[in-house]
Amino acid sequence: MVTKEEKLAGINKKWISECACELKKTATQAVPGNGSPSAEIVFIGEAPGKNEDKEGIPFVGAAGKLLNEMLAAIKLERKDIYITNIVKYRPQNNRDPLPEEKVACRDWLLEELKLISPKLIIFLGRHAMNNFFPELKISNAHGKMLVKKFKGMNTTYFFPLYHPAAALYDGSMRETLMNDFKKIPKVLREIEKREKE
Ligand code: URA
Repeated sequence: MVTKEEKLAGINKKWISECACELKKTATQAVPGNGSPSAEIVFIGEAPGKNEDKEGIPFVGAAGKLLNEMLAAIKLERKDIYITNIVKYRPQNNRDPLPEEKVACRDWLLEELKLISPKLIIFLGRHAMNNFFPELKISNAHGKMLVKKFKGMNTTYFFPLYHPAAALYDGSMRETLMNDFKKIPKVLREIEKREKE
């Protein structure tokens, strides 16, 4: 039997060769998602930065360090979750990814999400959130659970957060992010309750 790990590795291998994103030309390598394919929670960030581009692993730089600290505060480790980005290649000089770069990487992301089918998808920042909910503003939507059925996706619960990189040098945003983060266990319990009804 093919395991979920093997299926995920197959998805990443296929897209590493087929992804038509223009950023491929300037990036060192693709940065596929990382973590448990059986995770209940999938985190989605924006795009790899310098460290991620070098190592080929998402969230290994300063933002990743803050994320690890916040995970520890709710007794989770990176191996318990899955983390990926909407764009799998580093935009030069860390500029925002362009709409066409997001579109080029979208089916890769959707295949990952469909296979993992987590209970909850957490958006790290506005780019990840707006990829699914273009009408929302992160300043208003952060820390509130969203429920929506998307075609071809099993997950219906979403939770937007500020991006850890934005919170690195802003004390009040960091506090808001931590407070939102601490709501995650409660959000999961709420989902379990709704699923039983
Ligand atoms: N920021 C992101 O959005 N993704 C990463 O992988 C690293 C930093």
